[in-house]
Amino acid sequence: MKQILVISGKGGTGKTTLTSAFSQLAGDVVLADCDVDAADLFLVVKPEKFRREPEDFYSGYKFTVDRSWCSGCQRCIEVCRFDALSMVNGSEDNHNWKVAKIDPLACEGCGCCADVCPAEAIKSEDAHSGQIFIADTRLGPMVYGRLGIAESNSGKMVAVIRKYAMQIAGEEKREYIVIDGSPGIGCPVIASLSGVNHAVIVTEPTLSGLHDLERILKLCRHFNISTSIIINKYDLNTEMSDKLEQYCQQEGIELAGKLPFDKIFVEATSQGKTILEYAPTSEISHKVEELWTRLS
Ligand code: SF4
Ligand code: SF4
Repeated sequence: MKQILVISGKGGTGKTTLTSAFSQLAGDVVLADCDVDAADLFLVVKPEKFRREPEDFYSGYKFTVDRSWCSGCQRCIEVCRFDALSMVNGSEDNHNWKVAKIDPLACEGCGCCADVCPAEAIKSEDAHSGQIFIADTRLGPMVYGRLGIAESNSGKMVAVIRKYAMQIAGEEKREYIVIDGSPGIGCPVIASLSGVNHAVIVTEPTLSGLHDLERILKLCRHFNISTSIIINKYDLNTEMSDKLEQYCQQEGIELAGKLPFDKIFVEATSQGKTILEYAPTSEISHKVEELWTRLS
């Protein structure tokens, strides 16, 4: 089983479109959408049948104040670094009774307030952070997750998604796991990188594309991951594209290929198809096939 991760230093480079095309070309594949903050591979590779009910994902803690226990001492407010606590009326009738209240959107779940509360009025419970799905699609089984709005611990969710993808690939003896990674260099990207056979970095010819490429490459090197680069939409800025190529040469990284800008990328996605399904005889589809041959 080989695990191929498609990542990008920034969003909007065409990463997910290439992931769906590579998955189709891989054939014997399990797909894993690890871009859990903005999962969208399922829009192209539509789930046909869910293998089981969505699994609730719990991560971290949610804190609340039990007002009947609160003495109003305000020690919790002193220690909260996120200004998530305030004093409010304990009841509508008695405005002299003040109790602490936690703003759930501002709370980072550090637990300091609970530690210092002398009345043990601050309670915690496991936080429901999202859901994980396992579905059959026309390209193969797919595992993906959806993190709730403003929920953290996306790296932990990525680890669970990858565990299920590996389990399915092992049980069904599938040759490839193709992973759609998150943009950037944060926790979900690190969780996506661990243990993959190869990471394909999709970049585009802009200054921020170069800057973000440098950062993600540093991360791949830190984890000793074999890496290659695809420059997408290279013809939109050939000067910058040349700079990216020079950078690859300087750094000794393989340039897997360059793709021109093509409306087919957007059209195929809006039709819920891979570019190979939408325009199988197009030049861009042939170029993507060549890229996959090289990568695989
Ligand atoms: S858990 Fe941390 S962030 Fe949340 S209210 Fe308490 S001290 Fe503030
Ligand atoms: S530390 Fe505890 S008792 Fe004091 S105000 Fe905060 S919640 Fe209430």
